[in-house]
Amino acid sequence: MKRFIFLGPPGAGKGTQADYLSDKLSIEHISTGELLRQEINEKTALGEKARSFVETGDLVPDEIVIEILKEHIRKIRGAGYILDGYPRNTAQAESLEEHEIIVDKAVLFDIDKETVVKRLSGRLYCPKCKKFYHSEYRPPQKDMACDNCGRALVRRKDDDPVSIENRIKVYFDQTHPLIEYYEKKGKLEHIDANRSVEAIHKDLFKRIGR
Ligand code: AMP
Repeated sequence: MKRFIFLGPPGAGKGTQADYLSDKLSIEHISTGELLRQEINEKTALGEKARSFVETGDLVPDEIVIEILKEHIRKIRGAGYILDGYPRNTAQAESLEEHEIIVDKAVLFDIDKETVVKRLSGRLYCPKCKKFYHSEYRPPQKDMACDNCGRALVRRKDDDPVSIENRIKVYFDQTHPLIEYYEKKGKLEHIDANRSVEAIHKDLFKRIGR
């Protein structure tokens, strides 16, 4: 079975790699950050509750994230899935077990803090395709337009310097303990995420794709 969670700081490339692997293995890619941004854009009641947390880079309260995730539980009961950005604390990891959502492997994207800051500060985002670019490392073919749909690329609100700093702090304070949590269960797989997108693709596929 291919049921993974992707762990690691913001900007480690979890979303990009989850997109790649879910396509290649025909499994579901579920990003709680993406689900939250969708709720926020659509101005739903849950989205309005989540907005301020997402913009400052704090964790959205567990009950809101779990509520949003529950709507997608049907999908995550399939044969394979990648949970990207969930769980982000021990209570959320325990809630997976309560809902009998199995984790075969927790893939940790290991990366230096300086690399994360560089990646997040230059990051560009297509609000339609939900794809990420980077002004320096992965520029779009046409200036500030999505290669796929041509739509104007934007910077995420939480990719400003103050929120970036906060998101990294939140990761080390609240999410980092999950490394030990999954290590003790014998499920942790380390990936060196300082490398190029292509190098990580290859390694990831070799390690967990077969
Ligand atoms: P991401 O797209 O994974 O970088 O997530 C963007 C933002 O959404 C985070 O900074 C949090 O504010 C929120 N978020 C995403 N996933 C979770 C989660 N599992 N628990 C709490 N907040 C989350």
